[in-house]
Amino acid sequence: MSRAKSSHPIHYTLRLANPHAHILRVSMTVMQPDPAGQRFSLPTWIPGSYLIREFAKHIVTLQADTEAGPLPIHKTDKHSWQAAPCDGPLTLSYDIYAYDLSVRSAYFDAHRAFINGSSVFLSVTGQEHSPCHVDIIAPPGKHYQNWRVATALPRRKKSAGGAPALGFGGYQAPNYDALIDHPLEIGHFETRQFTAAGTVHHLIISGVHHADLDRLCADTAKICQAHLDLFGGRAPFGEYWFLLHVVGDGYGGLEHRDSTALLASRNDLPTSHEPLAPSNGYRQLLGLISHEYFHAWNVKRIKPAAYAPYDLSKEAYTKLLWAFEGITSYYDELMLVRSGVIPPEDYLAGLAETLTLTTRFPGNSIQTLEEASFDTWIKYYRPDENSPNAHANYYGKGGLVSWLLDWTLRQHTNKSLDDVMRALWQRYGEPFDTHGEGMAENAWERLASQISGLNLTVFFDTHLRTPSDVVSALLDIAPHFGVNTQRRAAKDSQDRGGKILHPAPPIGSHLGIRTSADPLGAKLTTVFTGSAAERAGLAAGDVLIALDHLRITHSNLDKQLTHLPPESNLTAHAFRRDQLLTLPLKLAHTPLDTFGLAPNPQADSDADTQKRYSAWLGSGIEK
Ligand code: ZN
Repeated sequence: MSRAKSSHPIHYTLRLANPHAHILRVSMTVMQPDPAGQRFSLPTWIPGSYLIREFAKHIVTLQADTEAGPLPIHKTDKHSWQAAPCDGPLTLSYDIYAYDLSVRSAYFDAHRAFINGSSVFLSVTGQEHSPCHVDIIAPPGKHYQNWRVATALPRRKKSAGGAPALGFGGYQAPNYDALIDHPLEIGHFETRQFTAAGTVHHLIISGVHHADLDRLCADTAKICQAHLDLFGGRAPFGEYWFLLHVVGDGYGGLEHRDSTALLASRNDLPTSHEPLAPSNGYRQLLGLISHEYFHAWNVKRIKPAAYAPYDLSKEAYTKLLWAFEGITSYYDELMLVRSGVIPPEDYLAGLAETLTLTTRFPGNSIQTLEEASFDTWIKYYRPDENSPNAHANYYGKGGLVSWLLDWTLRQHTNKSLDDVMRALWQRYGEPFDTHGEGMAENAWERLASQISGLNLTVFFDTHLRTPSDVVSALLDIAPHFGVNTQRRAAKDSQDRGGKILHPAPPIGSHLGIRTSADPLGAKLTTVFTGSAAERAGLAAGDVLIALDHLRITHSNLDKQLTHLPPESNLTAHAFRRDQLLTLPLKLAHTPLDTFGLAPNPQADSDADTQKRYSAWLGSGIEK
């Protein structure tokens, strides 16, 4: 049943109730419930992470009350409830179990709380556009008296019970959609602040670390400035919040309209003696920061029609994730080099790693990027042992297609992908409000052709709708952009490509597997399509214990293979579950699936090449 829009705010109270049981307690009051019986529901997924996650499974108890006493309420499906008809204010009270360390849900213990609204705030059916008030109540006890709250969720006015800066108390959102798009970090944390384009950016760092936060803050500021410059120098938000949680081993990020939640490994943070050119781990963290920040434009505001508005009760299908994740992946490290926080050599080495990974996963030659986007709900977010053979990666390969498009535009027109992004921003982003217009599925391609004046039909048909060889296309153009390339065999199983090696490693023997450690030998996590291991009859899950009658482990496999020439015929022993397999196996040659990239120092003699290189990376080629 539909109802007239209510002007009464929905009032939520969020209590950090029991840290040791990881229980959050919410009570919410609806002043004018649907007289026919009010419905409530919780999202089944969180925007930015395309998997049905069933957050309602963590609701432990739930009850409804009116001023007259308890009100019957029952579930109508896995994530929805219906209360009995009533007149007056209706209050729901429920407990949620919150113990998910990821950036996607909710976590609470005696050290910290991290909360996404999509895991804890029920929506009121028919009143999704009503303003929301939230009171956040600290855990009881002395232990918690210095805890603070960091969030982009706006505070209410002091006169209306508003929270002090970084404090517990009253917050608000103009509607439900906004309410659940501002995660909360609660506990002890350190803060840094910088201003870019006149806009305050907060850096909130929680967890145990010994990092140089001033370095992190300075580098982040440069990266943000580069993004802001790309999109015309004006921030689309009033403030921005980076909520970074540091753990021993972890990695993840999730974009929100005015903030991002980040999870990083302690060793990836900069140390006080961090070199000027960041270590690989720190470069990866800066790339993550850059990636999520770019999303503030690309997917949070420029978005597909399928997300405008989000339907969080079921899957939202689009073929455009190659653009929202692939282009974002392309720009994340590109902005590191343009802002000067990494040198061009390291940027090119990173691109070479993506070329390598894309080539090594046969699925990139099987599935198209449009199919990968559409099927993300059942494929990318539900990987299994065969995923590398069957799935295209719209992050990695999508980034390569974005790079190829950028180079194609720069080579044949006076435009670039930057111009397309600015045009998308003007058309779909800037007029954005929370229920703004998303783009039709074919709008991206149409606008790119319009802006560049090129007919890009063949380009998009090839690279989005066939499983194209984007790697070879990029290697062909590289000389025109002052980039030297190397295609070679891998040195060992740890070789991910990157820099150009002189001399190139020799071609050795190849099994075509990925392994992990196992007490008995080397456990096969992937057996690649068409590999020597597959031809011999080995499968993912098998534990390889001997090759040529010599013991194999995860750590000695590389070494053992160097002693066996390619095309050797030998015997492999492996366990499949508890059954011993004895298999004849013929070793293959190491494929040329590894790439190196570097600036070509000779290219500065060619003015056009030099110009293209510096327009692309924002710096000249150094001799
Ligand atoms: Zn992303």
